[in-house]
Order: sequence, then C-alpha cells, then structure tokens
Amino acid sequence: MAKLKPGFVWGDDYKTLVDEAKKGGYAIPAVNVTSTSTINAVLEAAAKAGSDVIIQCSNGGAQFLAGASLPGTDASKVLGAISMAKHIHNVASAYGICVAIHTDHCNKSLLGWVDGLVTASEEHFKATGTPLFSSHMLDLSEEPIAENLETSAKFLKRMAPMGMSLEIELGMTGGEEDGIGSEFDETADHSHLYTKPEDVLKAYDKLNPIGHVAVAASFGNVHGVYKPGNVVLNPEILKDSQAFVSKERGTDSQPMNFVFHGGSGSEQEKIESAVSYGVFKMNIDTDTQFAYAEPIGVYVNANPKAFLYQVDPETDAPYKSKYDPRKWIRSAEQGIVDRLQQAFKDLNGVGRSLAK
Ligand SMILES: [Zn+2]
Repeated sequence: MAKLKPGFVWGDDYKTLVDEAKKGGYAIPAVNVTSTSTINAVLEAAAKAGSDVIIQCSNGGAQFLAGASLPGTDASKVLGAISMAKHIHNVASAYGICVAIHTDHCNKSLLGWVDGLVTASEEHFKATGTPLFSSHMLDLSEEPIAENLETSAKFLKRMAPMGMSLEIELGMTGGEEDGIGSEFDETADHSHLYTKPEDVLKAYDKLNPIGHVAVAASFGNVHGVYKPGNVVLNPEILKDSQAFVSKERGTDSQPMNFVFHGGSGSEQEKIESAVSYGVFKMNIDTDTQFAYAEPIGVYVNANPKAFLYQVDPETDAPYKSKYDPRKWIRSAEQGIVDRLQQAFKDLNGVGRSLAK
C-alpha cells in the first residue's frame, strides 16, 4: 500500500488517496467546518480513528471564517476559505494523518468565489510549488448539462496544471444547503434527483482528458435529515454508471470517482453499496452541526449560573473556570470527535490512513 507524508495532500498524493480508498473498499469523510475550533475537532477525530480526512467549507462557512460582519461578497468568502486552508496547512502534519482541503457547492452565482480561490492558488503555487486547496466543487447541476460541463472544463484547465482536482454535480441533490438548492418537498416527483448514466459518460468524455475529476452523482440523496422512508436511495445508479462508462470507453471497472452528498441519516447498507460502487468521499455536515451544539446545551444546563453571573450573587463563588470558552467550546469539539468515529466506522475507514 502506498504511504504518504502526513499533512496537506494534493496532486498525485490526492489521486493516491482516492485510488486507495476505491481499491480498499472504504470512503473518506469530507467534513464541513466553520472555524479553527471545528477544523481542529475534525483533525483530532481523524487522528483518533487513524484515518485520513477531507476538510471543506461551504460558501457560508467561508464567509463565517472571514467574519460574519464582513459583507457577504465573493471577496469575503475568498478570504475565509483561504484562512481555512492556511490553518490546515499550518497544523495538519502535527496530527500525523493526510488531509485534503476542499470547498463545497458553488453554483453559477458564486463562480466568482471559486475563481478567486483558483487565482489565490495560482499565486501560492508560483511562490511555493503548492496550491492552497486539493480540489474545489462546482455545482452547476441547475444549468443545462452542456453549460455545466463547459464551465467545469474551463476551471479544470486552470486547476489541473497545479495538480488540483475538480468535483462536479450531475443530477440534483435534493434539499437546500447554505442557500443552494431548494427546500425539499417530500411529496413531489423526484425523478430529477437521479443521475443518468448517459450524463456521466458526457462528463467523463469532456473532463477526464483535462484532469482529475470527481462526480457528485444523485441517487435519491437529500441534504438535511428527514423522516426515514421518505427518500429512496438507489445507489445502483452508481454501479450502472460505472458499467456504462467502462463498456463504452473500454476502461477498468470503476472509471468514475463518486462523491456521496446528503448522506446524513442514510441506512448503513446503502452507504456500503455506494462505497462498493466507487464512492470515495462522503460529505458530512448536518450531523456534525448537531454533534457540536448538543454538548454545549448539556454544559449550559449543568452550569446555568456560570452563564448568568461572573460571581455567584449568593455564595460569591467565581465562575471564571466554568464560562471560559475553552471549557464549553472544548465540549463541543469532543462532540464532533465522538460523532466522527461513527462516520469513519460507517465508511469502513478506521485505521486506513496512508500517512507514514
Ligand atoms: Zn452537498
């Protein structure tokens, strides 16, 4: 098995991470972060599981990383995503695992955001020989497929020379995340939630000759958590797409690198099938948001007066050691660490780190 240097991975090392996951029958969680606290929690979780990890931010997460008071512009989101990347570049190797850095959904109205990030990587690459990110996602699934692939090809042509990978979306992940997509209507017709193998072949033909590509395919997945049974996951679509491309272009059995979005609350057997059909990355956001929030609620309920008074009005006891953010934010971080152990296990990824 290939062994890599711990820390930030991109280029050929990122390809190795993807290929080894597909060969080894496991997937790598891609966790959305919003702060150095949530980044560190994800790194701690991955180190504890002995697994490599992908860390990413949404456009809203990037905005929050730059500062909620800044204007909600592409420029602010560029600054925030760069802050995430630089913090990870700085500390990742200390955790002894491999870490890929990525940005989540970017639709047509946000293209200026990823455009600015690619420019930042170009400058960083010129100076250091390293891009800032391992990959970016463009989500043009709401546009006609020709436009989706044309725009994606344009970006990949700039990214590939730096060894960067591109994730695109075909078909539509249901639900809404960070203002992208629409509120999921549980009673509507969901045929648009399923990717067509013919479209996967078009993406393969257009993008594969340019550089490394991953596809967020839709097989009934929905962002957010809904009542079980209302969404029918059909991972066989991934299998059919692999078989179709493989047959049409005479490739090996799994030419596509698939990404699983909207997996929160999915049944374990569907996750296992998806991974066996070439899913190497599974996005995790909703579950870790709750995992971060829940311990803070428990902590505040256990220490209510420390959140009302600096000194107890009756006993004069000081509460400094209780309201110190390092106490209650630390409990939130531990919530993420615990929740992600389950994710690494569900994805068959425990102890699979390629770091030497
Ligand atoms: Zn998604």
